[in-house]
Amino acid sequence: MTVPRTIVVGGGLAGLSASHTLLERRKSVLLLDKKSSLGGNSVKASSGINGAGTEAQRALKIEDTPEAFYTDTAASAGPKLIQPTLITALTTNSASAIAWLADTFDVDLSVVSRLGGHTVARTHRDKSGAPGWAITSALMKKLTTLASEPESHVEIIKSARVLKLLEEGGAVVGVEYEAGGSVVAAHGNVILATGSYAADFSSRGILASHRPELLALSTTNGDHATGDGLRLALALPAPAGVCDLDQVQVHPTGFVDPANPAAKTKFLAAEALRGAGGLLLDAQGARFVREVERRDVVTAAMQMVEGEGRGPVRLVLGERAAAEVKSHCDFYVSKGLMQRYADAAAFAEDTGISFDTILSKVATTTSYTLTEPLHVAIITPVVHYTMGGLSVDASARVLSEASGTPIAGLWAAGEVIGGVHGRNRLAGSSLLEAVVFGRIAGEGAAGEV
Ligand SMILES: Cc1cc2nc3c(=O)[nH]c(=O)nc-3n(C[C@H](O)[C@H](O)[C@H](O)COP(=O)(O)OP(=O)(O)OC[C@H]3O[C@@H](n4cnc5c(N)ncnc54)[C@H](O)[C@@H]3O)c2cc1C
Repeated sequence: MTVPRTIVVGGGLAGLSASHTLLERRKSVLLLDKKSSLGGNSVKASSGINGAGTEAQRALKIEDTPEAFYTDTAASAGPKLIQPTLITALTTNSASAIAWLADTFDVDLSVVSRLGGHTVARTHRDKSGAPGWAITSALMKKLTTLASEPESHVEIIKSARVLKLLEEGGAVVGVEYEAGGSVVAAHGNVILATGSYAADFSSRGILASHRPELLALSTTNGDHATGDGLRLALALPAPAGVCDLDQVQVHPTGFVDPANPAAKTKFLAAEALRGAGGLLLDAQGARFVREVERRDVVTAAMQMVEGEGRGPVRLVLGERAAAEVKSHCDFYVSKGLMQRYADAAAFAEDTGISFDTILSKVATTTSYTLTEPLHVAIITPVVHYTMGGLSVDASARVLSEASGTPIAGLWAAGEVIGGVHGRNRLAGSSLLEAVVFGRIAGEGAAGEV
């Protein structure tokens, strides 16, 4: 007899959080991922994860509450698309999500910074400056260890692409997946954690249907991010609902690699660089936006600058800013994406920006001096995150398009769900969405098994 178990589709942070939650409740898990390694986009996250009212904030004497986090998230989501119950779930569970990561997986999240659109410092990261890797690899490692134990309750199958949701009488009862050239059926509750569609550049894809003008941009996402979870749930006989598919976050700062300026996948210049005090300068060396504004505001300003022929836009970090994000800068310099100048004169000479402009527009209006070393990169807006996705309730149950009620046997978590961020996601809220809704989905599916 087949032991009932929950099938988690996708091994990024949402799927890993759901899997661990199920195991904590002594349930069985089958984790499937179409790639040969787990981690998805979650391993790439570079700025951090939000939490309001955390231990780390208290240690740093930062006053914050879930209510303040709600207010910032709601302002960013906008009045038309706001879904209060989802934002409440995100914000009220944020401190416990951070505590779960720190306590259960021993992840260091002690560095807290204030990023665009947040009224206080609440984006947590580790000291190494690679929070996505620090968090996700800890969960991967523990799950892989658990999977190798005798009589384990978790099985992980990589290079296993889920093709179809199995349905009986309106309920989801399992999946069909392809692995090693065979198509296999697996039965149980299903949690979709497939990430979303920021790399779906196909001519019949979701971006092409909803935001065709973005096909010309590059992306920061891995090539797995093709909206599979949406397609799977839309193919049900009574399809799932979807929302906000035209809401796509274009990140202002993708690195233009001087060795390959047209590359379709670009490295992200972390939000933390602007958070640390990085400046954005146009081709004449003038600032044109408050750098810690929300991403949509900064992107719009950059697109205006580029559209007016005042590009390229450069991201410039002075000594203090570069020291705060030193590991990032060292990495970007090693990749040839960022250049280090001894001082403003060397920068001016290499870029053709007039030294007088730097003197009048930068040095006199900021704390930057003309003698300090500068770290500089050319940047451009890139497709980064898709706010739209499957319609879910605050219990992470996927809702039917026709009735608006939960589809039995089906949950979703992470970037594949829609509605949590409205028109604009705040930095640090996607890793949080993956953990919070992954845990909620795991709890829900555990209750049903
Ligand atoms: C460069 C970069 C930096 C970022 N920085 C931050 C940050 O600092 N803070 C923040 O909050 N957010 C950040 N984000 C966003 C955040 O990383 C993602 O939104 C989040 O990690 C998504 O997690 P997920 O588990 O939903 O999806 P993912 O981590 O993308 O995982 C999805 C998994 O599903 C698998 N999959 C897909 N389809 C199938 C299928 N059909 N069958 C089987 N498996 C499938 C994929 O292979 C993948 O492993 C960043 C994103 C990028 C790209």
